[in-house]
Amino acid sequence: MGLALIGLSLITGCAGSGSHSSMTISDCMAPVRAESSDIRRNLARIERAPLCYRRQQVREGGFHWTFHILEHEGFPQGPFWVLPHDNENTAFDVAVQTVIDYGGGLLAVDSGGQRNFLGQDPNRNFSRSRAESGLCRGQLQAAPGYSQAVLDHYRSRRSPILALHNNHDGWSGNGGIGTISLAREGAALTAYPGDYSRTSSATDSGRSSHRLRDEDNLVFVVGTAPLNADPVLKRRVAALNAAGLNVMHKQLSSGNFDCSLSDYVARHRLGEYFNIEAEHGDQLAQQEMVARLLKVLGIPPLKARTKSSPFLQH
Ligand SMILES: [Zn+2]
Repeated sequence: MGLALIGLSLITGCAGSGSHSSMTISDCMAPVRAESSDIRRNLARIERAPLCYRRQQVREGGFHWTFHILEHEGFPQGPFWVLPHDNENTAFDVAVQTVIDYGGGLLAVDSGGQRNFLGQDPNRNFSRSRAESGLCRGQLQAAPGYSQAVLDHYRSRRSPILALHNNHDGWSGNGGIGTISLAREGAALTAYPGDYSRTSSATDSGRSSHRLRDEDNLVFVVGTAPLNADPVLKRRVAALNAAGLNVMHKQLSSGNFDCSLSDYVARHRLGEYFNIEAEHGDQLAQQEMVARLLKVLGIPPLKARTKSSPFLQH
């Protein structure tokens, strides 16, 4: 296989950033050749399923990014997941199983197994211009090519923009070591705990539902208004809570844009966005959270799609 040069060479000087980027994406290739410990760890599952593995590369400024792409060959248009952090192995493993179960695909940024790549946090790297990049501290240089390369995967899909992350236990304010926690509200962060009395569901094995109460397991959403003034998102949050999921809402303002994917999507109104955060290692809980979120969104597993087709019943 060779690199199919879909040959997007973007010149994005018009916004005054002066940055230049190029992007290539391979044809489907043998996943064993991915040179990724994430892919290697999941190789048996990936090879058994009808999944296409492709390698995407984005060059921009001093950065040469590698994205690992997995897509379901039978149902590629299903939900698509972004995994910005290469040290969050639980999220990757959950995403692989989700693509097998629901179709769609995933994009995982390769940072050599670390959170950051050459000093840049991949989830603080979304901006269109130097001016926008200047609004946030976490980005070293504007990255319109990178941002576009990630979001272009949503162009031919109806999927909401979906991300998976893992975080550490608790947060520094309660003796924990993480930064994301339902217990850590702030000026722009409001916690909406799940309704734990209704946490049993058809998809739940029963082993994970108590873990959904954990402060580290939550769905992160961002809006540009207070939730009360945002009826569409408010309904979504209520439905997620009713499904037993914790939700953290960030209200994006002119002063708190941080170049994360969530903020970027909200700032540019690119569509619905959900990020499922779960504690490192809590694979059962994160998989269950995925199932519940997708149920709320009306996205059925492939199995159910097949069953509901009158032509495929037997
Ligand atoms: Zn993360």
